[in-house]
Amino acid sequence: MDLASHPETLTCTECGSIIEDAGYLPATERDGTYHPLVDAAVCDTCGFNDLGMTGCAPELDDVVDPGPDDTLLHVRLTDSGIEVVSAKE
Ligand SMILES: [Zn+2]
Repeated sequence: MDLASHPETLTCTECGSIIEDAGYLPATERDGTYHPLVDAAVCDTCGFNDLGMTGCAPELDDVVDPGPDDTLLHVRLTDSGIEVVSAKE
């Protein structure tokens, strides 16, 4: 499944830095695409250290108040945009 929109940049809500390589992006699944909740993106480092606590990936409700159609995407930023690596409900 692909993203409905591809934001130019993602900023980590935890540390405020721009996510340049990989991070976590909550999204709402609708009509077969992911609609990213850009304001709740978290960088890889904060996801693991501050939200995942013990070196685990964060859970969706660590990042955002989840709705029934929400999922947490692990994304990688490439030259061509944001690529969804994995998703967990
Ligand atoms: Zn961060």
